[in-house]
Amino acid sequence: MRDPSDTRDIGPRVGSPLWFHMAVFTLAGAFVFALSMSRLTGLNGIADHPLFWVLAAMVVLSQIWPIVTPGRSRLEAPKASNTFCLAVLIVWGLPIAVLLRATSLLGVLVAQRKAVHRAAFNAASATLSTAAAWAVLYGLDFRYSPANPWHFGDEGIWAVPKILLAGVAYFAVNFLIITVAIGLHSREGALTAIRRTIGYQAFVNLVLVATAPLAALAIATGSAQFVLLFAFPLAAIYANAAMSVQREHQAHHDELTGLSNRKMLIRKLDDMLAQATVSSTKVGFLLLDLDRGLKEVNDTLGHAVGDRLLRLVAHRLTHSIRPGDMVARLGGDEFAVLLPAVKEASVAREVAARLRAAVAEPIRLEGMSFVIEVSIGIAMYPDDATAGELLMQRADVAMYLAKQRRSGVERYVADLDRNSPARLALFGDLRRALDRGELELHYQPKVYLTDRRVAGMEALVRWQHPERGVIAPDDFIPQVQQSYLMREVTAFVIDGALTQAALWRQSGMTTQVSVNVSGRDLLDSGLADLVAEGLARHRLPPETLLIEIDERVLTSEPAHAVATAEALAEAGVALSLDDFGTGYSSLVRLKRLPVCEVKVDSSFVGRILESPDDEVVVKSIVDLASALGIRSVAEGVESADIAAALLAMGCVAAQGWHFCRPLNAVSATAWLAEHGERDRQARPINGHRPGPRRPAVMPPSGWRL
Ligand code: C2E
Ligand code: MG
Ligand code: MG
Repeated sequence: MRDPSDTRDIGPRVGSPLWFHMAVFTLAGAFVFALSMSRLTGLNGIADHPLFWVLAAMVVLSQIWPIVTPGRSRLEAPKASNTFCLAVLIVWGLPIAVLLRATSLLGVLVAQRKAVHRAAFNAASATLSTAAAWAVLYGLDFRYSPANPWHFGDEGIWAVPKILLAGVAYFAVNFLIITVAIGLHSREGALTAIRRTIGYQAFVNLVLVATAPLAALAIATGSAQFVLLFAFPLAAIYANAAMSVQREHQAHHDELTGLSNRKMLIRKLDDMLAQATVSSTKVGFLLLDLDRGLKEVNDTLGHAVGDRLLRLVAHRLTHSIRPGDMVARLGGDEFAVLLPAVKEASVAREVAARLRAAVAEPIRLEGMSFVIEVSIGIAMYPDDATAGELLMQRADVAMYLAKQRRSGVERYVADLDRNSPARLALFGDLRRALDRGELELHYQPKVYLTDRRVAGMEALVRWQHPERGVIAPDDFIPQVQQSYLMREVTAFVIDGALTQAALWRQSGMTTQVSVNVSGRDLLDSGLADLVAEGLARHRLPPETLLIEIDERVLTSEPAHAVATAEALAEAGVALSLDDFGTGYSSLVRLKRLPVCEVKVDSSFVGRILESPDDEVVVKSIVDLASALGIRSVAEGVESADIAAALLAMGCVAAQGWHFCRPLNAVSATAWLAEHGERDRQARPINGHRPGPRRPAVMPPSGWRL
């Protein structure tokens, strides 16, 4: 099969360094070939014997099937034909070896429809390298021919070192001629190409060279059967290489869609950036995230059909790009497309528009029609970022913008990105923090104002930074919201909170745990699934969890955020509007959304005693919540006087230092044990039942302060 990225069949520009290189060596090779053929004797005697044809067949076959190993293209793959040609050279001398090597190579390349100039150049290089090996042998008085073939015992103990030296010359000449041409072709530069490939090539070719004396011994027996025996170890090598390639493929590809995975993408991205730097072109990075479609299919038709949908999307994406471009699946409903060597950013925009159109074609599954929308963020190398990781982050910033604006496609704009270098360093640190488990959850109780029963525990994240000490969430969450790391932080928080809730439940302290999610999480259509999976894994009923959403998110991020909020409610998970009063939520929205709690922002609560305005605000929110059947919770209650004033206003519950500061898991457990009556009979509070619109919110709870 032809490698689509292989452009070497296009002839070099006349007069270019590559043209000179190829012309000089093709001519030199042709000259040496002609000279060798003029000395060709004894072919008839050899060709009468089956041994010669078995050898010829093995040379041709091993030329057609190189030994492809993981991470190497077919172009770089070593060929066992080298072993046989060197063996022929040892036993019968140069003319026969050159004849076999050059004609088989030429024949195979032409049959594979490679350009003639390239086939001739490769055959010339093979001829010259064989001649170099012969020259070394000749210089060492190792001279054999069909009339006087080499036999076991000739040259005594010096046979093997002499053959190995010849093998080194054989490899060195071939490697230099070919690699310099590759370096000049890719404009990577000859020296860089040599440095890049010499280690691997020297290793595998010297292994092949080292087996040449054994092949020569087999030929020297004069028996075709001995040479055929070589097919067995070779078959073992091929099978091993094929298995490694398969294993490598599995490690670098997504099982569901067969696309490259994130690991492979990062590797390719680095290669492409290096190439683009040399050739002064740009690289386009497109990050795609499905807006809707997958969730609907998963919910209505099940995950198996959802998987089919993902495969279909993958298929549409791969068929909408050019050869040489790359599509990868990063996980869930997130894909990436890599465009190497683009001239203008406008090309990337065109590709993005094409991809959106391809994905948006209605899909019929199980008799139902679905339309899939996708948001795409574009970042260009080197204009938007000069390194791979940064390029991915910036495409992510652009994708987030495309979702917020509902524009479908956005290019990264530095002005809209609040990621300073210091913030990017923070992302690097946070990545490590997630891997090393430096994030930790603390818990702060919420209590009912009337009787001080425990209303729930809010999980608040803390970052135990090894150098900077404890970092508060306000110092990193707003920045992380701009990056794809937010998803991982939220996944960590949800899992941590559910693990703790399950532990408390096992000890008889059944309480509701709240987690905070950011605006970005609500744009992620996978959040509801993440929550549902977590609950199922910990065998917890949905009412164990309460999701807190900043009120402003719902006013500024409409459609998608509301869709996720509704998906959560459908899963039976209750929602709380955090920092209420700061975002001007309309009454209509509050009524429509599946919200069961509003948390009055501490900026109002803290001043109710001295500011009549703030008192009015808090009282209105409390009344509004009460009218809608929603629980009101005052945040930031720091004194008994404020708590008393809130109670007088009819506020249902409160949270703040006056009751308890956020505590680590151990202290929070001790607090719960102290303030709760263990193993109390669970009883439903407020009469709510879990349901799609307004789920049960109040946990069975019996703890008093
Ligand atoms: P929030 O959800 O409104 O959380 C309440 C914040 O008020 C907490 O700050 C808490 O420690 C603090 N607080 C509680 N009682 C008092 C009080 O009486 N007086 C004062 N002055 N403050 C009080 P914290 O833990 O620093 O969290 C700050 C914000 O960071 C949170 O505000 C929340 O929006 C965000 N956050 C915390 N954890 C997470 C998380 O896991 N994920 C996300 N997305 N955001 C989080
Ligand atoms: Mg909160
Ligand atoms: Mg708050």
